[in-house]
Amino acid sequence: MPQLDVQAKLAILADAAKYDASCASSGTTKRDSKGGKGVGSTEGMGICHAYAPDGRCISLLKILLTNSCIFDCHYCINRKSSNVRRARFTADEVVRLTLAFYKRNYIEGLFLSSGIIRSSNYTMEQLVEVARALREDHDFRGYIHLKTIPDADPELVRQAGLHADRVSINIELPTAPALKRLAPEKDGARIESAMSEMKASIADARDAGAKYKSAPRFAPAGQSTQMIVGADAASDGDIVARASQLYDRYGLRRVYYSAFSPIPDASAVLPLKRPPLMREHRLYQSDWLMRFYGFTPTDVVAAAGADGMLPLDIDPKLAWALKFRAAFPVDVNRAPKEQLLRVPGLGIKAVERILSSRRWRTLRLDDVARLTLSIGKVRPFICTADWRPTLLTDRADLRALVAPRQQQLELFAA
Ligand code: SF4
Repeated sequence: MPQLDVQAKLAILADAAKYDASCASSGTTKRDSKGGKGVGSTEGMGICHAYAPDGRCISLLKILLTNSCIFDCHYCINRKSSNVRRARFTADEVVRLTLAFYKRNYIEGLFLSSGIIRSSNYTMEQLVEVARALREDHDFRGYIHLKTIPDADPELVRQAGLHADRVSINIELPTAPALKRLAPEKDGARIESAMSEMKASIADARDAGAKYKSAPRFAPAGQSTQMIVGADAASDGDIVARASQLYDRYGLRRVYYSAFSPIPDASAVLPLKRPPLMREHRLYQSDWLMRFYGFTPTDVVAAAGADGMLPLDIDPKLAWALKFRAAFPVDVNRAPKEQLLRVPGLGIKAVERILSSRRWRTLRLDDVARLTLSIGKVRPFICTADWRPTLLTDRADLRALVAPRQQQLELFAA
């Protein structure tokens, strides 16, 4: 590997980290201020945003320790057979960069992942060393998110949890056959067993923390994972079912979805085209419906088409409502919270406002309009003291009436 200075390494290893979705906000249009016009850019790599356990949005330095790897996962730009420029930070370089950026107020924490060098244990030792040195040698109190290597010694993974706020273990692909085909060196059973061990350690630490003030912290922001979408034939229904299983089994805080993007010198087993970014967005919306709106995976799958794919032109909640019109209209003055949460266009805050307002008065359509963002979207699915759209939900053209207007797509949008 050629000798590179820290800045050159940073350019390579921050760029290489952009493929990890675990704290990224993807899907926006490309903008920059090259040529002296405007301020800012949506294309720069290196700093991403994540939500801290207290709900704050924080900026993280997002880098890989190295983009060299002894594995050859077909979908990964850093795989052994890939022809990319390689770089590697030492643990000390990552520590110094994090502290320097933190002191300049550029970041509030670190997101660190890595390709696998020498062995899983050696790589995990290096990752743990970065977190340990930051916490113990420099008393760093910022946020740390560490990717862990499932094959590494469980004791090393446990040490990661002692220093990091959040740890993540990538499940990579929604089905076992896809993992076997596209990441033959990875072991699905080992990945799940590492998640299970992490869940147990987090629960133990929480119990100890409730009893003893001096109990050590252990991954207080929990564990998360990432699934690649569109690299295999799994439908949205398969992905949603898998995500739900992971939430239930391992108490994950988040499942992140990363739309597969074709990489230079791609392996022949991969699709040539990336899936539409809207697919990733619809999966995040379904995830949100399951976590906060009381939808079950079966509900989400029911909103999908016969091929198991969610519609791209309307959100999954609207798709479900259009399929199950008998559940509407919902009486905003009487319906329980669960039913109100099913109404397209009613978010959690709007439902809370409706529940508290109706304690004092009978709501009319104008009242609901004041409490929601888009009464046009809500109106066909509710009834109020002065509004009952019984015929509207029977209309054959209801989908066209409530679907968002199509926008002209950018010719070169990602
Ligand atoms: S182990 Fe990770 S870094 Fe290495 S090829 Fe597979 S996905 Fe890429």
